[in-house]
Amino acid sequence: MPDFRNMTLPEMVRHEGFTCTCGREHICPLDYLNVGRGILHELPDMLKAMGTKYPFVICDDNTYAAAGKLVCEILEAASIPHQLYIIPCQTDRLKPAEWEVGSVIMHYDPACDLILGVGSGVVNDICKVVAHAVGRKNAIVGTAPSMDGYASNSSSMEMNHVKVSLYNQAPSGILLDVDILAQAPMRMLWAGLGDMIAKYIALCEWRISHLVIDEYYCQDIADLMREGLNRVINAADGLAARDPQAVQAVAEGLVIGGIAMAYAKISRPASGLEHYFSHMWEMMALERGEPYDLHGIQVGIGSLLTLNMYRDIRKIVPDADKARDYWRRMTPERWESQIRAIFGKTAPEILALEAKEQKNDPAKHEERLSRIIGNWDRILKIIDEEIPAYDQIYQVMSRTGMPLIPRDIGISDDDTVNAFIGARDARNKYMTCTLLWDLGLTEEYAGKLREFIS
Ligand SMILES: [Zn+2]
Ligand SMILES: [Zn+2]
Repeated sequence: MPDFRNMTLPEMVRHEGFTCTCGREHICPLDYLNVGRGILHELPDMLKAMGTKYPFVICDDNTYAAAGKLVCEILEAASIPHQLYIIPCQTDRLKPAEWEVGSVIMHYDPACDLILGVGSGVVNDICKVVAHAVGRKNAIVGTAPSMDGYASNSSSMEMNHVKVSLYNQAPSGILLDVDILAQAPMRMLWAGLGDMIAKYIALCEWRISHLVIDEYYCQDIADLMREGLNRVINAADGLAARDPQAVQAVAEGLVIGGIAMAYAKISRPASGLEHYFSHMWEMMALERGEPYDLHGIQVGIGSLLTLNMYRDIRKIVPDADKARDYWRRMTPERWESQIRAIFGKTAPEILALEAKEQKNDPAKHEERLSRIIGNWDRILKIIDEEIPAYDQIYQVMSRTGMPLIPRDIGISDDDTVNAFIGARDARNKYMTCTLLWDLGLTEEYAGKLREFIS
């Protein structure tokens, strides 16, 4: 039986994987993974472990200054030939979109045998897409502990000005030098903390989903994620001062998030309703051609909004009549016009998803409702075990100086309420908002949310 909690990160990513007590094989095969202080000089070791002789190094202006220049110097000192491409920034921030991917490919030397990204979220995502397109492995030298996607095979991209997740290629090598990460812009350190705090809600929703709709759940993966999260919360006070121990805890927690998702083959261990606040806000911003904040900053705010909801959810006494009355009033016509109002040009996709998944089907609804009511004590117990006190997490985040409410990042109250209402329909995933919908409480909680943020 694997005890993931007592393994080192490199032990977790062995190629043969693990047979777990949940009955599944868990695997996150990496040739190289290391997180630590002053380890950038190990770069030639990573390339050797990957069998690479001629890497194609990709940065943007900021990450070139943060680590790219040093990467090239280390490669030169080790006599490793390489090509460097610095992606020009079209706006104030590098976009994960067609132009950027195309510009990298136009400069790519087909003789190169590795895509070596130097950066964090966006550079890493672009590199995954490019590596997949040109049929090469990819590796990343991280410059910020800002999101948990280092080890994942999905890229969060913009296609035709719509946000999409592309499932293409996970990196084969990850090198995170804590001394470099600690120098990242403070907003990126905050973002990493925000993406970790999300895990409280993710784990709670995963267990509730397991109970209500029999979704697959693995206790060992959840324990691994909890352990990584606890270490981050215990160290978080050091983040504002860029304490290397705090930065390392966040970086390791985020890498564990990626490993946990790879093990589970779903995003359950790491993402829940708080992520859907972020996805919905990004969708709205793209629809209007407006910029949006860092993923982890939005997710941190979404986490606080969700943790706040749980203060009231703990007091719910499920009422089947109230639930049925709500569904009766939510006719298919009313539901569709709500979807069109919230989702704009993404609406047809959402309507097609419902046509396929039929989550609004009254018979399925009754089934879920009876499971919820029959198991309400167990659901309350899960909430008690997984969801920390709102004030505790608010204080942890507040002490770092990070944004705490949607208005701090220029998001209107309407957009936040619509994000909550639309989250249930954005994907067929059983989340806090789904539970509330099943209980007929969506409008009530949308009202509470509006009161809370205004
Ligand atoms: Zn398992
Ligand atoms: Zn995330």
